Amino acid sequence: MTTKIDPFTMARPELKNFRRIVVKVGSSLLIDSDAGEVRASWLAALAADLAKLHGEGRELLVVSSGSIALGRSRLKLPRGTLKLEESQAAAAVGQIALARIWSEVLGHHEIGAGQVLVTLQDTEERRRYLNARSTIAKLLEWRAVPVINENDTVATNEIRYGDNDRLAARVATMASADLLILLSDIDGLYDAPPGSNPDAKLVPIVESVTSEIEAMAGAAESELSRGGMHTKIEAAKIATTAGTHMLIASGKITHPLQAISDGGRCTWFLTPANPVTARKRWIAGSLEPKGTLTIDAGAVNALRAGKSLLPAGVIRVDGQFARGDAVVVRGPDTREVGRGLVAYDAEDAEKIKGRSSPDVMIILGTSGRAEMIHRDDLVIGPGGTFS
Ligand code: GLU
Repeated sequence: MTTKIDPFTMARPELKNFRRIVVKVGSSLLIDSDAGEVRASWLAALAADLAKLHGEGRELLVVSSGSIALGRSRLKLPRGTLKLEESQAAAAVGQIALARIWSEVLGHHEIGAGQVLVTLQDTEERRRYLNARSTIAKLLEWRAVPVINENDTVATNEIRYGDNDRLAARVATMASADLLILLSDIDGLYDAPPGSNPDAKLVPIVESVTSEIEAMAGAAESELSRGGMHTKIEAAKIATTAGTHMLIASGKITHPLQAISDGGRCTWFLTPANPVTARKRWIAGSLEPKGTLTIDAGAVNALRAGKSLLPAGVIRVDGQFARGDAVVVRGPDTREVGRGLVAYDAEDAEKIKGRSSPDVMIILGTSGRAEMIHRDDLVIGPGGTFS
């Protein structure tokens, strides 16, 4: 990008231009922490906003938190931090209530709600990912609204999202949504801490998530939401990398989506104009690459020119990966060049690194594929700007 656009004056996108929208609603918006109950009139107003967008022919998905908070109040658990098994059990109780609430508020507008509970593995393993994706696609085809949360009851500490910001971003990319809206307790990203700096300005548009933007997020932590601004920026990276626009807006007001349509305050995170294919979107957004291939300068150039990665260009293999796993590709300077699905497991990759294609046949004794990562399985893009 050569022209620098002033984020404070450039035209922002409009909600009416989006077809498939994911709306993430945080616990602190949905649940009144004193009463421990759902903020019914606020939710009814949000449901009316959703119904309006739905009535205009848009496809909607909701990522809703609140299972732990609701479960906690229904079980009358004392205040204070819950242990993992306690929050999992609380989520089991709360999720039933949460699903019912969504079913009722959307049902009021004659919109069906479908509960979808996902774990990290469901979005990271391609087979499960494709399965979840086709269920969501079917719900949308039937004009129902998938209401999604992490399956907190079975997720384990090491392998869970924990925050619904990143989960929502992954779901948005999985569903090929063109917009993700994070309703938050803060109306957007500020260029300085808004609480302590009276000159802090809301950044209306972020063209790409640079280190400068990440630094702003660190400074402007939001106090209530689980993830804070940091996980929202992580979500922005996942979403925009994969071809989904994202925005952060305040959910504290009634009719928060209508407010966005009316030009209310928010921060837009833009995705590059050319969304990548669904497969590449999945590769680019992979949260848990299983290994790293370090490649030589010639291979870096070849990859940037759109070629596949051949074993000859690989100088180092790290990690324990199986065939088909996502791996990070780094240049000789260790900078990330891209990500891809590797065609060999770690052991074979180690044997054939640096070798010519005829050698590979001899070493492995098979006529496997010549590429270490085929160009169709490769997403190139340093600094998070995959294309
Ligand atoms: N999945 C959690 C819940 O429903 C919420 C995670 C979050 O607050 O981001 O309670």
